[in-house]
Formats: sequence, structure tokens, C-alpha cells
Amino acid sequence: MNFQRKPLPAGLYFVSTPIGSARDITLRALDILASADVIASEDTRTTRKLMDIHGIPLDGRKVIAHHDHSGPAAVQGLVDLVSSGKSLAYVSEAGTPLIADPGFELGRAMAEAGLPVTAAPGPVAAVCALSISGLSSDKFLFAGFLPSGKSQRDKALAELRDLPFTIIFYESPKRIQEMLASLADIMGPERESAVCRELTKKFEEVRRGTIADLIEAFDGRTVKGEIVVLVGRKGAAQIEDVDVDAALRAAMQTMRLKDAATAVSGALGLPRRQVYQRALDMDKDAK
Ligand code: SAM
Repeated sequence: MNFQRKPLPAGLYFVSTPIGSARDITLRALDILASADVIASEDTRTTRKLMDIHGIPLDGRKVIAHHDHSGPAAVQGLVDLVSSGKSLAYVSEAGTPLIADPGFELGRAMAEAGLPVTAAPGPVAAVCALSISGLSSDKFLFAGFLPSGKSQRDKALAELRDLPFTIIFYESPKRIQEMLASLADIMGPERESAVCRELTKKFEEVRRGTIADLIEAFDGRTVKGEIVVLVGRKGAAQIEDVDVDAALRAAMQTMRLKDAATAVSGALGLPRRQVYQRALDMDKDAK
């Protein structure tokens, strides 16, 4: 592919980059990296390497380092640059800027200054993990990294325990066993969960099961790489078929089959496709 520099309207462009496999980047993201007047990055080496892999020339442009601790003067410098008519691409170390990554201060300052802020969307480890976790994806909550100390971690988990969502955490491989132990203590060992490690990379690993199953799977292992931990909605594992049938029967009295399936899957935190199939079967049996 040939990515040439073309005029890009002034503004801030948040550019998502791969979380592992270098080819997980959109053509638009590459167009923006090829064309932006200025490229700012959390990790300039990674960004230059990515551009090199995809054959995007720097053409004399610099990749400047910028993160949330760069300070107000650095943010103002970039705001001034965009107000003077320049296009600015911002890239974090991996995945989507602002998602457990820098970019918040910059985006906010640009918006407050009335300047255009747009995104070239792409990979997010949390969403990638959710899609393959087998857990309900209708409603989910991204909780980022938990505190590393046990008492603070347990407190944070207690606040999340009863929320009716699949909960997604980022975790360090060094703390995975401690974190699973806290999950069992606070959320209960029988809760459905998943651990997704090294997504899109050579040693990708996905483990699904109860928290107790996952504790067993990681017991005594030296774990490496990047990790997403997901916990199913409270009660999701215990919902019986009879409960689903009863909820569907009630919902179908006032709603079309499709809407009833959507409402019941949302209410019970079950995958919509599974509930929809059950509704179709019930409808067939009733005829
Ligand atoms: N901005 C990134 C995103 O959009 O997902 C997240 C950056 S955050 C600093 C890094 C954390 O994201 C890792 O510690 C891990 O929890 C998660 N992560 C990133 N890449 C991953 C991968 N390939 N597999 C599993 N988890 C990953």
C-alpha cells in the first residue's frame, strides 16, 4: 500500500493502534499518520516502528513525546498548534488512546478551545476480550486497573460486586493470582469469569470458567504477557432455563418476539442470541 501525505483538515486525531498484531490497524489510521502535520505519541519509539512496518515516511516530521503528565504548558503548545491550522495525530503506546492510556488532558483542552477532535477507531483490549470471553456483552463496565494493595483492591471490588454488568479489568501478569483470590473472596468463587492473555499475539490464551476454575488454572504458574480479566454479571451463572422461559413468556405477552428476547437478555444478563433462540423454540412449540 502506498500512504502519501495529503492535506488533512486542522484538528486533533486520536489514532488507535494494534494491541499485538501489527496488521490490526485501519487504512484510515495509516492515512492520518501519513498526513498529519504533527504526530504526538506516548511512546515515540513504538510509533516510529509501527509507521516503519507500514511504510509510512516521516518526511521530515518529528514524533513528539506527549502523555498526561507532560503538563499544562505542553498541552497548551499542542492546542496552539491546532489553532494555527495544523493537524495533530495522537497515538498511545497501544490500542485506543484514553483507554487506560494518556490522551484525556489533550482531548479535553482541544474541546474546551473549540477545536475539532476526532478519532480513527480501532483495537481496545477490553472489547477484544469481551467479544471472545463467552460472557454477556449486552451491558458491560470497564473498570481498568484495580489498586495493587489487597485492602484497597477488595474495597474497589465490593463497590462493583452487585452491578448488573459484565465487568472488565486490566491486570498485570505479576498480580493475576492475587487478583483472582480477591475476586473469589469478594465476588464469590462460583461467578462466571474469563482471563484473556496476549490477545492477537502468538501465545494468545483464553480461559473461561468460574473464578474457582481460573484460580486452579493459574495456580503455581509464572504468568507473562498482557492480561484482561472479565467477571460475569452477578447471578448470570445461576439463571435456570425455567427462569428464562418464564421471563420470555411474560415479555412476549406485550412485545414482539425479537423485542422480548432483547429485553430478557438485558434483564438477566444473558447473551441475546441464546435468549432469541430460546424464544424462537418456544414460539415454534406453541404453534
Ligand atoms: N489503550 C489500551 C487499550 O485500548 O486496550 C490499553 C493500554 S493499558 C496501559 C495496557 C493494558 O491493557 C495491559 O496491561 C493489559 O491489561 C491490556 N492489554 C493491552 N494489550 C493486550 C493484549 N494484547 N492482550 C491482553 N491484554 C492487553
